[in-house]
Amino acid sequence: MTAAGTLYTVSAPSGAGKTSLVKALVERCENLQVSVSHTTRPIRPGETDGVNYHFVSEAEFSAMLGQAAFLEHARVFGNFYGTSQHWVEQQLAAGIDVILEIDWQGAEQVKHLLPQTRAIFILPPSRETLEQRLTNRGQDERSIIESRMAEAVQEMSHYIESDFLVVNQDFDTALAELGAIVTSQRLRTPRQAVHLTAMLDNLLN
Ligand code: 5GP
Repeated sequence: MTAAGTLYTVSAPSGAGKTSLVKALVERCENLQVSVSHTTRPIRPGETDGVNYHFVSEAEFSAMLGQAAFLEHARVFGNFYGTSQHWVEQQLAAGIDVILEIDWQGAEQVKHLLPQTRAIFILPPSRETLEQRLTNRGQDERSIIESRMAEAVQEMSHYIESDFLVVNQDFDTALAELGAIVTSQRLRTPRQAVHLTAMLDNLLN
C-alpha cells in the first residue's frame, strides 16, 4: 500500500523568491514535484511551454473549465491560471508530494476542497527589500513600481490563511526551512505507519 502524497500550496508576492526556492527544494527532495499550471498569460522571454506553464488561449482555458479539468483556477492580474486536477490526483495517489505555486485565491480554493493541504506563505524580509526586488534596475517608472508594490501588499495580506510562514531573507535558510516543513509532514505517524509496515510488524509481532 502506498501512503498518499501531501499536497502543498506555496504562495508569495512576486519578488519574494518563490519560484527559485521551490525549484531548489524540488531538486534536493525526492518524491516531490511541482505542478505546471495552465495560463492564458503571454509567454515571457526565457520561459518554455510545458515547463514553466502550459500556455493556452482563453478559448482553450474555457473549454478546460467546461470539462472540470481544474482543481482550482483564478484570474490574477487580468490573466487566467489553473491547476490540472488529473495530474495532481495521479501524483498524490502514487505517493508523490505535490507543490502548487499559486496565488492566495487558488490556495483558499484548494484548502476548502482538500483541508489536509499544507499552505505555505513566503514573505520578503522588508518592504524596502521587496521594492528593490521589484525594481528593474531603475528602469521602471515610479507608477509601475507602485502598482507592483500594491499588488504585492494585497497578496501578502493573506499570509494569515497559511499554515507555515517562511521569510526569504537568506536563500539557504529559507530553503532549509521549506525542507524542514516537507520532512516534518513525511514523519507524521499515519504516513510513517504505511512506509514502515514491515519494520513495525517485525518490532511488534
Ligand atoms: P506569473 O504570471 O508572474 O508567473 O504568476 C502570477 C501569479 O499567478 C503568481 O502569484 C502565481 O503564483 C499565480 N499562479 C500561477 N499559477 C497559478 C495557478 O495555477 N492557479 C492560481 N490560482 N494562481 C497561479
